[in-house]
Amino acid sequence: MASKDPPLIIRGKDEMREWSRSARAEGKTIGLVPTMGFLHGGHLSLIHESKKHADLTVVSIYVNPGQFSPNEDLSTYPSDFDGDIQKLNSVSGGVDVVFHPQNLYDYGGRRSSGGEEEEGKVVSCVEINGGMGHETWVRAERLDNGLCGNSRPVFFRGVATIVAKLFNIVEPDVAVFGKKDYQQWRIIKRMVRDLDFGINVIGADLIRDEDGLAKSSRNVHLSPQERERALSISKSLSNAKFAAENGQLNCKELRDSVIQAIQEAGGKVDYAEIVEQESLEALKEISSSSPAVFCVAAIFGNVRLLDNMEINV
Ligand code: AMP
Repeated sequence: MASKDPPLIIRGKDEMREWSRSARAEGKTIGLVPTMGFLHGGHLSLIHESKKHADLTVVSIYVNPGQFSPNEDLSTYPSDFDGDIQKLNSVSGGVDVVFHPQNLYDYGGRRSSGGEEEEGKVVSCVEINGGMGHETWVRAERLDNGLCGNSRPVFFRGVATIVAKLFNIVEPDVAVFGKKDYQQWRIIKRMVRDLDFGINVIGADLIRDEDGLAKSSRNVHLSPQERERALSISKSLSNAKFAAENGQLNCKELRDSVIQAIQEAGGKVDYAEIVEQESLEALKEISSSSPAVFCVAAIFGNVRLLDNMEINV
């Protein structure tokens, strides 16, 4: 049961910054949990983590157009703001602020080719007029490559840029990210280190549904049959983890077993890679000197699903 008032909902950047500055002036520390909404237990676990490390918690809910390519699922990304608020009300001890801006990009008053003012309209920053006036991007040049970076070339620059913007608006002491999006978490940690943000970035464990599927807002788009078949991802990953921890250290063999299991279940494998946990460089052999994480992206129906498991031998 919640033991606190419902969160304050803030929509403007200036109002958000003002709230943070006055909280900090009172000596409070602030934790930020960035999300794109349609909240589930994975998001809520990040909030619990934030509450362990900071006096006050801000949850941002913003579907960031800058990380979607024109051919990706920006327009069908699920949302349910009222449902999200209800879930946040159920968090023990409560959430202090929900930052829910309509748009965080300054389109500079540019007009689309149709002539209408685009200000306030949600479009991907990469799809119209060469970026709609937004031209400053943050990139982790090496970590951006590989894994999700191969099939989603603008994704991580969009993520790093929006997170940098949120850090500048909310000015948190702590920010919590899920290790479900392992590459994203590593990129944000690197950005904070390289650009000297004074923020403690915390990685929270991946949360699964009871059947093993990694929780994701996109799971709602899976049919029951697709969902059943998608369990091949977590099952094959856990078999591979078990095999590795019991002496099967050859990465090609481990990868082949996961790829085969997913394909046999009717999934399309985008990648199945075993990489070093920090550099995300591909490994040939797992060893105690280089902790590994097995990362998978696979498509069932029209839904691209991510999963990973850390392997420590
Ligand atoms: P999203 O709303 O999908 O952008 O996710 C917002 C944050 O929640 C990111 O830091 C994600 O890594 C994290 N997250 C999403 N799903 C999970 C999960 N199943 N377990 C842990 N964290 C998650």
